[in-house]
Amino acid sequence: MNIAFISTGTELLKGSAVNTNLRCFGSALAAAGIPLHQEIACGDRKQEIAEALSAALKSSEILLISGGLGPTSDDITLETVARFFGLELHQDPALTLKIENFWKALGRAIPCPKSQFKQAMLPDNGTAIDNPRGSASGIYIKTDYAKITRHIFLVPGPPSEFEPMIAESILPAILEIVPDRLKTVGFLCAGVGESTVAKTLEKPITALGVEIAYCADASGTRLFLSSNDDEKLVLADRTAHDLMGTSAMPDGVLDPVTRTIGLLKEKGVTLVTAESCTGGMIANSIVERSGVSSVFAGSAVTYSNALKEKLLGVPSEVLEKYGAVSEECACAMAKGAASRLGADAAVATTGIAGPDGGTPEKPVGLVYVAACVKGEVMVRKLNLRGGRSMIRQRAAAQALILLNTMLEQL
Ligand code: ATP
Ligand code: MG
Repeated sequence: MNIAFISTGTELLKGSAVNTNLRCFGSALAAAGIPLHQEIACGDRKQEIAEALSAALKSSEILLISGGLGPTSDDITLETVARFFGLELHQDPALTLKIENFWKALGRAIPCPKSQFKQAMLPDNGTAIDNPRGSASGIYIKTDYAKITRHIFLVPGPPSEFEPMIAESILPAILEIVPDRLKTVGFLCAGVGESTVAKTLEKPITALGVEIAYCADASGTRLFLSSNDDEKLVLADRTAHDLMGTSAMPDGVLDPVTRTIGLLKEKGVTLVTAESCTGGMIANSIVERSGVSSVFAGSAVTYSNALKEKLLGVPSEVLEKYGAVSEECACAMAKGAASRLGADAAVATTGIAGPDGGTPEKPVGLVYVAACVKGEVMVRKLNLRGGRSMIRQRAAAQALILLNTMLEQL
């Protein structure tokens, strides 16, 4: 049984909004061991949506359509879908009440304008899917098309509504429809490129009859193993961990930030960051997660030499003799951050993110990351490739990977 995703929204085609709903839905399916067969992005126009429906229905029985369920004139998804399948729309009393109550709760002038009741319409064969965070509900339609039963899910576009609905109601509903799905385990091979992972694992894992998939990013390669045989999957998982050694994170850990937070909590260690070329990215990646205040104290973004000296106590002799982009400076930053900012551990980054500022001795991409844990300091010299943004992302990831190595040994 195939699944297709249609994202509606002219802004997605213009590039003024990034299709984060695809990332959310694709990764939720992948984690559940179900591949997404196809994705089509189309504009907010009836003909474009109808064309996308025709194309997706050629090969998929399950369709998820995001966006265009709101009250405004450009919200035409439901109307277009109903017409496409020849379904009548009617105003649902329960949804009407929900919209009136939602309107009242927002403190808006009463009565609720008629245009809002567009969101109370349901097609024949349609049922509402609860959306506690917005006025438009999701809709599930089971209908035949070309003599095959189709399952159509319409979901509001705003990611703040879409994402929780996928986790809370859409994915569980899809899991009931899809038979014989594969079980999947995934973990990050930290700091290791896709081709190295493939070279090491492709043959031994496929020889076990287990599917293998990779996804490379700035922190390494995320690896997914899938099978419908539990025993084979356990064996493949163990084999992959053995062959990848210390770079292999535990099952389910797909990024270094999750691992860092887990280790800090497990070991009861507090952290600060001292960031030059990463400019606070590491701190930001940690603070993006809730519940970190017990282990994360804060950050010093020290881009200039003056601030490296003033805030972190990097000795002026180090800066004069070795320069800011040096092993010595990175170590002094990490040590200084831990002692001056008062934490058990610190990570530091200093490097040349480019595109300017490189020299033959210190080229663009040269980055030093250091970590200090309970007085012990380790440093790594990196020669990173990519544009400015990629170099900074890779530096941030490598700093946490180094810290994780030290925390694991505590
Ligand atoms: P609303 O009631 O807010 O109009 P809707 O279901 O009609 O909800 P849209 O109008 O399509 O949804 O989109 C609402 C907001 O969500 C817009 O800011 C849009 O850019 C964003 N959005 C829609 N689809 C996506 C997507 N696939 N990825 C990321 N953002 C999206
Ligand atoms: Mg809308």
